[in-house]
Amino acid sequence: MSWIQDLARPDIVALKPYDHASWDPTLERMHANELPWRMLGDDSAAGLNRYPEPQPHSLVSRLAELYGVAPNTVLVGRGSDEAIDLLMRAFCRAGQDSVLVCPPTYGMYAVSAGIQGAKVVAAPLRAERGFALDEQGLLDCCTADVKLVFLCSPNNPTGNLLDEGAVLRITERLAGRALVVIDEAYLEFSTAASLSRHLAKLPNLVILRTLSKAHGLAGARCGTLIADPEVIALLRKILPPYAIAQLTLEAVLKLLRPGQLTVSRAHVELIRSERARVSAALANFARVKKVWPSDSNFVLTHFIDAGAALSLVRESHLLIRDARGYPGLGEALRITIGSVEQNDRLLEALE
Ligand code: PMP
Repeated sequence: MSWIQDLARPDIVALKPYDHASWDPTLERMHANELPWRMLGDDSAAGLNRYPEPQPHSLVSRLAELYGVAPNTVLVGRGSDEAIDLLMRAFCRAGQDSVLVCPPTYGMYAVSAGIQGAKVVAAPLRAERGFALDEQGLLDCCTADVKLVFLCSPNNPTGNLLDEGAVLRITERLAGRALVVIDEAYLEFSTAASLSRHLAKLPNLVILRTLSKAHGLAGARCGTLIADPEVIALLRKILPPYAIAQLTLEAVLKLLRPGQLTVSRAHVELIRSERARVSAALANFARVKKVWPSDSNFVLTHFIDAGAALSLVRESHLLIRDARGYPGLGEALRITIGSVEQNDRLLEALE
């Protein structure tokens, strides 16, 4: 048995996956209990009367190209949230295994762990060092039951990149013992390179990417998990057979054509310059205690009275995220950078 099979749930390793209707577009389909006619008004390319291709090759290749990785290291799901859930279900035995998170961080790691019945171990980020990783503290928490370590970089809600050297050392130390999952949902807003380039020498590394942020396709629900091909094969066993909807497939292929990427890049550039403008303006307001530096499309801001700031913003018909519920954050709000007009309105409300 490989170390990946040793790490995974034995019942998932042994599971015989669902035998979905075979995919052969050269033949006419009378094998999947579909209707032979399109619904009136169905103008999709393939017809919504047909089940979509499981793990569509065209989409896998396009995303592999976009992220600069080999297609056999790619799994596409309904957002990176689905990838997080698949990892929990494949690697954590309910009531026995644990996952490690670094709070304050993205809440779905703990929620997915809870759904699966996995324990959550916390190695908090160090606020006094700009929410840096506590490398030794984290390694000390990695007992044998910890199967997955979730590191979010740039981190939500604090906005900072995690130190690459520390992440790589942690991954190396946990080789063969745990998967280290780097959630790079916001990477495009930073100037850092993806850690996926280290996958060949660190096979316990898993990278999560998404089209929901810099590519402006949150409504399409399309996330990518990049990992050792053996991890991909294991997760494919538990991914529902027709996970990617035909409409999503067609929309993503159309909207991710190479020419379109210049549009994404321009959006990212504008978000970066607006992030600098909004951060500088907020820092001058009397009601603001601290604006944390950000490599993301949001800024974490500490207020003297976060509740009052929330109400003021709401009166201008804007919603920002109440971050007071995150462990250790106190009077903090997370502000997503919007359009120039929205940012102006937000600043006016808070001045
Ligand atoms: N990871 C992080 C850090 C996020 O903030 C989010 C969305 N809020 C996700 C993953 C989920 O993104 P997706 O739309 O790809 O499911």
